Amino acid sequence: MIKNMMQQTKRHLAMFLAAAVVVTGLPVMNADAAQVEYVVNGEVKKVVSANDADAVSQNAPQVSGNGCEKFVGWSVSENTDWESLSDNDVVTATAKFETIHGKTKETITEATCTEDGKIEYTCEVCGETVSANKVIPATGHGATKTTTTEATCTEDGKIEYTCEVCGESVSDNTVLKATGHGATKTTTTEATCGKDGKIEYTCEVCGESVSANEVIPATGQHKWDAGKVTKEPTTEAEGVKTFTCSVCGATKTEAIAKVVKPEEEKPVTPTVKLNVKKITLQVKKSTTAVVASGMVKGDKVASWTSSDKKIVTVSKSGKITAKKVGKATITVKTKLGAKATLQVTVQKKAVQLKKISVNKTKVTLKKGKTFKIVATKSPITAQDKVTFKTNNKKVATVNSKGVVKAKKPGKATITVKAGKKTKKVTITVKK
Ligand SMILES: [Zn+2]
Ligand SMILES: [Zn+2]
Ligand SMILES: [Zn+2]
Ligand SMILES: [Zn+2]
Repeated sequence: MIKNMMQQTKRHLAMFLAAAVVVTGLPVMNADAAQVEYVVNGEVKKVVSANDADAVSQNAPQVSGNGCEKFVGWSVSENTDWESLSDNDVVTATAKFETIHGKTKETITEATCTEDGKIEYTCEVCGETVSANKVIPATGHGATKTTTTEATCTEDGKIEYTCEVCGESVSDNTVLKATGHGATKTTTTEATCGKDGKIEYTCEVCGESVSANEVIPATGQHKWDAGKVTKEPTTEAEGVKTFTCSVCGATKTEAIAKVVKPEEEKPVTPTVKLNVKKITLQVKKSTTAVVASGMVKGDKVASWTSSDKKIVTVSKSGKITAKKVGKATITVKTKLGAKATLQVTVQKKAVQLKKISVNKTKVTLKKGKTFKIVATKSPITAQDKVTFKTNNKKVATVNSKGVVKAKKPGKATITVKAGKKTKKVTITVKK
């Protein structure tokens, strides 16, 4: 719209210059009045009656230009003859404008690789173009940049060629063919008791699977450890023992029986007994044949005492010695309080041996083995010494303590003697 007006203004200016008629200062003439139309930019603004050029300028409407456009006066046709004009004639007074632009502004649009640039010249005041654009030719693409995307086992790679300046593609990409998979790597996951294993085949380069996995079937057998008590049993509830498979870590449990309340310990009655109830001893003789036994566990002999030390005495170890004719009682006591007694009769004459007995009368031995003959006198206080004698030393020997040793296969008789009493033990030696 504004541009249109400007063009019009320019056209008017051109007409004005061509007419070269300035209305001010025209000679005053007397004539009939004519109708004067004031036209501004093609539009009739006012109509008056006038009969000379003065009247035209005196009656003219106020006109002002836009931007760089300045109103400079009115123009009427060069051939206007005011003398011959009548009331019905129409004279056109056209507003004349002159355009004087301000400073020229240059607007540069730089050229790119492929598109021209330009310099535009416009008026700094009204913004109108004041002279034709100047073209800045396109620069053409700069150096070519190559970008390589390497090919993988399965995907093609490429080399792209682009302009280093604008980044646009400057020629077709070069295709780099996919390399195909590299060497195959096998990874074995061993089977366990309850879980299958597998062999995986993958590419050593890209790690992708190159063929189907192979299954290694589960072994099915757990390897149980010794187990661990995971819950202690009580007198009210069973406990739990847990076993773990050392291969796969699977677990199984087993019940542990309830704890049985220990029975209250019964108080033990201490006991002790002697191998004989009574003995006879000759004055001044001693015996160690009286032996205490039958004590409960943890008990032991604590003391030996005599009821009459003038008749008989007893040592700490139980050796009894007759002092003078008479009777006395020997008491043995244990640590836990048991006791036993022995009647001792002391006499002037020697104690007569009545019998001798042995632990075994027939013994069979293998060559090289031994056997002890235990001889018991009756009464035990008889002072007669016990002796042992073999009739065949080549088959079996015997020592003073009654220990028989088998020498070679055959038979031998051991004679056990005390005083006038004897006992025979038959020894048979086998290979
Ligand atoms: Zn201007
Ligand atoms: Zn470019
Ligand atoms: Zn691969
Ligand atoms: Zn297992």
